[in-house]
Amino acid sequence: MEINVSQQLKAPIGSRRSYEVSEIINVAGGNSMFQGKVGLMRTDRGILVRGALRTEVEVTCSRCLSLFSCPLTLNIEEEYFPTMDVVSGTSLPLPEEPGGFTIDERHILDLTEAIRQYMLLAIPMKPLCREDCAGLCPSCGHNLNQGPCSCRPRGAESHSSESSKLTLASDVSLNEGRTE
Ligand SMILES: [Zn+2]
Ligand SMILES: [Zn+2]
Repeated sequence: MEINVSQQLKAPIGSRRSYEVSEIINVAGGNSMFQGKVGLMRTDRGILVRGALRTEVEVTCSRCLSLFSCPLTLNIEEEYFPTMDVVSGTSLPLPEEPGGFTIDERHILDLTEAIRQYMLLAIPMKPLCREDCAGLCPSCGHNLNQGPCSCRPRGAESHSSESSKLTLASDVSLNEGRTE
């Protein structure tokens, strides 16, 4: 996602431009569509980029392990520093901030790396396909979002069910057998 900012670098501090973004970018191991608006403002040191980009990323649900598409909004705010003086054509010192973004010697501001970094931060650590994802049965691995499995219910909530009464009954008879 490259923007030529040579004209804007010649403009006075505070001058703004905005760009519509609708682009497919290869980040986070796959192609993703990014849409939104970015505003560029000339600062005393370079160009300040602000914008909100929407995208979707394929992630694995942390409960049921199914793949789903997770919508993300990236709120980007980064200052870019020129490496070449746009008027004189002489090289400029690199920004003092480590990892600061730069505008290359052709006056191209490339948003790809910033988008990649914001994307990695925006992807949830434990994604859920839906808020109330039922997860997988711990015994048979069945996806409980697709309905119950045939395993016996476990835990306190199952005390009232017929199958758990049967289990309890057979446990008792086993114990009696041992004591005899
Ligand atoms: Zn899930
Ligand atoms: Zn099961």
